[in-house]
Amino acid sequence: MDQKLQEEEEEELDEKQLLEKQRYQKIQKEIQESQDRSNETLQKMKLTFQTINDVQEQARSTVDNIDNFQKTFSITMDQLLENIGKSLISNSISSSEHNPKTAIELTINEAKQLITKNTVILCGSGLSKASDIPTSKEQNGVWLYGDCNYQLSKLKTRDFLLDQTEIYWEWHKQFKQQTQDKIPNAGHIAIKNFKEKNKDALIVNLSIDNLLVSLFESEQIKYGYNKQVYEINGNIKYMRCLYECTFQEAELMTVYDIPDLLQQEIPKCPICGAKGRPHLLLLDEEILDENCRITEIQELYQRYDTIIVIGTTLQTHFAKTLVCEFIKKKATIIEINPEPVIEVGNTFWLIGKSEDILPELLD
Ligand SMILES: [Zn+2]
Repeated sequence: MDQKLQEEEEEELDEKQLLEKQRYQKIQKEIQESQDRSNETLQKMKLTFQTINDVQEQARSTVDNIDNFQKTFSITMDQLLENIGKSLISNSISSSEHNPKTAIELTINEAKQLITKNTVILCGSGLSKASDIPTSKEQNGVWLYGDCNYQLSKLKTRDFLLDQTEIYWEWHKQFKQQTQDKIPNAGHIAIKNFKEKNKDALIVNLSIDNLLVSLFESEQIKYGYNKQVYEINGNIKYMRCLYECTFQEAELMTVYDIPDLLQQEIPKCPICGAKGRPHLLLLDEEILDENCRITEIQELYQRYDTIIVIGTTLQTHFAKTLVCEFIKKKATIIEINPEPVIEVGNTFWLIGKSEDILPELLD
């Protein structure tokens, strides 16, 4: 009996041990699995960290690239602005190392295809040459009066007007008389006809001689403005008050009649009796909105894609800035001049006289 009991006990013990062993093995297996999972997780984390590092590296390199791009872009823009700046103080808008010459000569028929309904016409005193009005270039920039040679660049200033008023008005009277019996030429008439057919065309006149505007005479508005032609430098036909009191009278047309001058007197303001001044932009003056509607022009020309530049050597800041704007926006520039001055940009030359070219080009 005892023997049997003992056997049973031993059996029971074996069974317990076996169970114990199995449990131990199971735990071991679980630990192993858990370790494996941990390793796997660690491995994944390592990969993730690696990826994060890579991304960080890429981000750094992207930032570097943006920096480099910004630097390059800024250098390019600086160069462009520097070149345009140089153009503004030189005699022409010329090519340089950074801006190679891109202007090419076209035939009138080829140029005709480039004209759109959004065209600006910028014309200077060269347009009136065929009407026998000399340009200041032809006069070598000098006006001869008595025994004296007056530099036109000094004479056409406010300083000169105030210092030597009589001499100034003498020049003004002579220039006015030079234009008196002259008539518009084929170039003026072609521009007038073009504007009639293309109501949106923007006509900007740098010339002060009144010939082009005389074709539009019935469209006169206040201050001696012409509704259809922007006369940026004013008009020889008008005067106003030296102290600008005439601008207070909205409807006043400051017509320049010369009774005062014919009596060798300095013209007076018809309102306050102070000295009169010409309705011209003097070379040492800022452009004022009241004088030439500059804001209106600046707002308008943004939407134009073509400019025809006629008979001007772009000596004034306004004219150069306007052409530079068209170069910057890569718009079409057609230059009509015996000796063209715009060498860069999307520029096409028609070399010759405006009175020969314009009737065919604008027909
Ligand atoms: Zn006045």
